[in-house]
Amino acid sequence: AADEGFDLHDVEGAIEEAGHGPLPVLAVVGRPNVGKSTLVNRIIGRREAVVEDKPGVTRDRVTYEAEWAGRRFKVVDTGGWEQDVLGIDASVAAQAEYAIEAADAVVFVVDAKVGATDTDEAVVRLLRKAGKPVVLAANKVDGPSGEADASYLWSLGLGEPHPVSALHGRGTGDMLDRVLEALPEAPAQTFGAAVGGPRRIALIGRPNVGKSSLLNKVAGEERVVVNELAGTTRDPVDELIDLGGTTWKFVDTAGIRKRVHLQQGADYYASLRTAAAVEKAEVAVVLIDASENISVQDQRIITMAVDAGRALVIAYNKWDTLDEERRYYLEREIETELAQIAWAPRVNVSARTGRHMEKLVPAIETALDGWETRVPTGRLNAFLGELVAAHPHPIRGGKQPRILFGTQAGTKPPRFVLFASGFIEAGYRRFVERRLREEFGFEGTPIHISVRVRE
Ligand code: GDP
Ligand code: GDP
Repeated sequence: AADEGFDLHDVEGAIEEAGHGPLPVLAVVGRPNVGKSTLVNRIIGRREAVVEDKPGVTRDRVTYEAEWAGRRFKVVDTGGWEQDVLGIDASVAAQAEYAIEAADAVVFVVDAKVGATDTDEAVVRLLRKAGKPVVLAANKVDGPSGEADASYLWSLGLGEPHPVSALHGRGTGDMLDRVLEALPEAPAQTFGAAVGGPRRIALIGRPNVGKSSLLNKVAGEERVVVNELAGTTRDPVDELIDLGGTTWKFVDTAGIRKRVHLQQGADYYASLRTAAAVEKAEVAVVLIDASENISVQDQRIITMAVDAGRALVIAYNKWDTLDEERRYYLEREIETELAQIAWAPRVNVSARTGRHMEKLVPAIETALDGWETRVPTGRLNAFLGELVAAHPHPIRGGKQPRILFGTQAGTKPPRFVLFASGFIEAGYRRFVERRLREEFGFEGTPIHISVRVRE
């Protein structure tokens, strides 16, 4: 490496950075207007994840990557709040609940100028039940005179209130130090398979695509355990289901079964719930209603799973209703609208008739295999050497940037670091990704490629 002009230390650093496993998740919760979004912006700074050019894909982000004191984590923003028919307490409780479920630690934001309200108390009860580490942020303490307001929040029984001003940044550093103490190095609840538990599946898709029908169909009589969270009386959240001789965990089936108050078209809840389910899963099965046009919402849901780095399967449901003409147009739509995930295994199913249900598990297994694939460094570099020789990067400004060597820094999903002699254009990166896929498979998994340029 060093003889190519890279400092060995830099190379190791780049590999370590790119190779990080799944990141722990921090949820920021609280009533409307306490300053959650302002605080999230402060936490993520300007480091908002760069959007790779994926044409045609709209994003509605709920999770962001952040870094503090050299540690990276994800932040779930619940600021995009919508009140639903049941009123403010239920709405706040519902959004907090989803976020808390997916989180490894929680920042609970209270407006110190207002003090603790009944709604705040309701969230405190949820936090107690969930038993996740909580950092209490007493927000809008813009100067020393506000500190006294913050101290009243000891009464919430969540430990020390941390006076902060999300708006001006006052105290947020100290608060983030506390957050890092509360956050585990790796997400505790994800990736059960790492410790021999069942693989986790998030069955997601927009309303009415057939999620609950599909769940019922696959579960059938095989539904082995209903997994109630200890000490709560709410809906079961995750469910263990036996399929093809293996036990799988379907996460957030409560979301699939839909609660009355979530039928009011609260898109934001749906996004939050989907994001939470995806965070908890290793593989996302995105259900699409094949009888209707592929929508922007379908694409957003796919983007969430891809951005979260999960293995992906696309299931086209309601296949029983398709006539020849619709099948023809569906294929054209898939080619144009979903070209960027052409690598995802696909099944054409009917939750109603049971058509091709048996193909679901093999598709999921394929995707998980791709997700865990590791390419040995020797093979990778032999491949890169041939690729670069046969298809050099276009010359720019009289120079020809060249990929010198590379390594796979991590899996779940596969992450590569390529070291180059100059700036590698997006088009060439995509070309390299395509060829990597052709050579090594990676069916059903996003792959991350970062490029380091020699100084
Ligand atoms: P959210 O609904 O909890 O996400 O709250 P927002 O982040 O949208 O903030 C609500 C309002 O409080 C906005 O007008 C913010 O500018 C204001 N705000 C947020 N943080 C602070 C703060 O630290 N100090 C003051 N004075 N205002 C703040
Ligand atoms: P969810 O909102 O995604 O959970 O969707 P549901 O499972 O509630 O299904 C929405 C509607 O689509 C219901 O009326 C189902 O009976 C119907 N449906 C679901 N799957 C199929 C299918 O494969 N074929 C047909 N024809 N209808 C289906």
